[in-house]
Amino acid sequence: MHVLLAEDDALIASGIVAGLMAQGLTVDHAATAAHTETLLQAADFDVLILDLGLPDADGISLLRRLRAQGLSLPVLILTARDAVSDRVIGLQAGADDYLLKPFDLRELAARLHTLQRRVSGRSVNLIEHGSLSYDPSTCETRLDGRAVDLSRREQALLQALLHNPRRVLSSDQLKDAIYGFAEDVESNALNVHIHHLRRKLGNGIVETVRGLGYRLGPAGDAARQESGQ
Ligand code: CA
Repeated sequence: MHVLLAEDDALIASGIVAGLMAQGLTVDHAATAAHTETLLQAADFDVLILDLGLPDADGISLLRRLRAQGLSLPVLILTARDAVSDRVIGLQAGADDYLLKPFDLRELAARLHTLQRRVSGRSVNLIEHGSLSYDPSTCETRLDGRAVDLSRREQALLQALLHNPRRVLSSDQLKDAIYGFAEDVESNALNVHIHHLRRKLGNGIVETVRGLGYRLGPAGDAARQESGQ
C-alpha cells in the first residue's frame, strides 16, 4: 500500500513514516499542502493521511479542493483538535475516517488497511487468492498453508497485485506501489522483485501482459501445472 502523509510536524511525521514502513507500507511525506498536491499529481497513492493543520492551507479546504478536482482515493484525517465539529466538517468535506492525536501507530495502520479493504470491496482483512493467503494487518503470506517469507518490497508488490486482481498494472504503477517518490530506483529493480515473487509463490503469480504491464495470475501449484512446469 502506497501512503501519502501530509503532516508538518517533523517529529510526528518521522514516527508515522518509520512505523508504517516497518509494517510493510510504502510512505511518502509532504510537509505542506502545496507539496501534497504536487506528489498527488506525480504518483499513484492508495490512501492519503491528512493533518488538518498545515502551514500553507487548512486541511479541510485542501480536502474540499482535492475532492472537487476528482480525487477519489480514501482520506484519513489527523487532528489534534478534539472538537466534534472538526470531525464532522472533515467527514463532510470528503474524509473517509479520522484519528485524534495522539494515536497508536498500530491503530493507524489498522485503519488504513480497513479503508483500502472497503475500497476493494472486501469484508475481511485476509486476502485469499487460490492457495495463497495474505493478511495485510500482520504482513503474513501463506501458500498451501505454509508461511512464505517475503521482503518488504515483495510484500508491497504482492499487495498491489492482490488489490487490483483484474487490472493490468504498468511498470510505473507497480514502481509507485513499492517505492517512495524520492527513492532512487534502478531500472531493473522491479524485474528483480517480480523474479523473487515468482520463485516464492509460483511462476504464474505475476503474468506479463506484453507492451502493457503485469497482472495477477494463479498462485502456487496451479500456476506450475497450467504452465506445464
Ligand atoms: Ca500540523
